[in-house]
Amino acid sequence: MLARQPHPRVSIVAPFYNESDAIRHFFAKVTTVLDELGCTDYEIVCVNDGSKDDTLTQLVETSRRDPHVVVVDLSRNFGKEAALTAGIDEATGDVIIPIDSDLQDPPELIGVMLEQWRAGFDVVLAKRADRSSDGYLKRRTAELFYRVHNRLSDTPIPENVGDYRLMDRMVVDALKLLPERRRFMKGLFAWVGFRSTTIEYVRDRRVAGNTKFSGLKLINFAIEGITSFSTAPLRLTTYAGIVVSLLAFIYAAAVVIRTLVHGIDWPGYSSLIAVVLFLGGVQLISVGIVGEYIGRIYMESKGRPVYLVQRRYGKRRDAEETR
Ligand code: UDP
Ligand code: MG
Repeated sequence: MLARQPHPRVSIVAPFYNESDAIRHFFAKVTTVLDELGCTDYEIVCVNDGSKDDTLTQLVETSRRDPHVVVVDLSRNFGKEAALTAGIDEATGDVIIPIDSDLQDPPELIGVMLEQWRAGFDVVLAKRADRSSDGYLKRRTAELFYRVHNRLSDTPIPENVGDYRLMDRMVVDALKLLPERRRFMKGLFAWVGFRSTTIEYVRDRRVAGNTKFSGLKLINFAIEGITSFSTAPLRLTTYAGIVVSLLAFIYAAAVVIRTLVHGIDWPGYSSLIAVVLFLGGVQLISVGIVGEYIGRIYMESKGRPVYLVQRRYGKRRDAEETR
């Protein structure tokens, strides 16, 4: 593998949504780590994802003090995936590192990531060695999600790997070529491929504030992930249809034969209602699955932008804004 330049330009990309209490800690930590690594050519691209607290004010203040800090203020809350996309589009570095702003992704790993990059890897994944900082339910559902997703999809996503990773410029450029509007980043990251390696870490608790992902949001996220990268659920409904019709056919044949042999008898209400309800359920689920994909086609066909930028702040960007 080709050895790389020792001092690439580093872009840290962090999405912020109501992170007022975490911001101080975030910058203190990240700048310390980068200083210790001897990084001088770097930028911290902060995306304000429509925060309702004073996150933007704090970010802008930081960008006035620190020329490395660039702020992209989105016009409203677009969600983490869109915010990450915005930040990655904005980043100018040779290597790009998306990181959560609540310090759950330890910035200390950046050094190791850069080493791996220098050794020739294009993607360095940070894998959670243990998720004890997450609740029991979240751990089990995450496990289930990876299992189902990787069974159904042609692009397996590595287990317990979040958005925290290092990517070479080449990988990011590839990522930008993917035109989809609804962006399931983990899946897109996996889809582009390139030479990748994994390092392990222990996920910390949030420094401050609360998680922005509730149970329902996570379930929706999982469905989004699976339907973005696989049409297997559609195939499954076809199979379910075939199996159920076959059973129905066998049952019908049995009923006809029985009637011919024993004559007509009345009882059978409960079995009948059970079959009707079962079939009704199967049909509703199938329509739901088909609807899921039609919904996606509908959303994509509108071709709306993934995010809208209200304003950019920071040294270089300010100059551009006033042009
Ligand atoms: N985030 C965002 N927009 C959202 C929700 C979250 O930009 O709509 C950011 C949030 O500020 C944080 C990161 O995404 O930097 C991860 O969010 P969180 O810590 O709430 O998720 P968890 O770590 O609990 O999965
Ligand atoms: Mg978090």
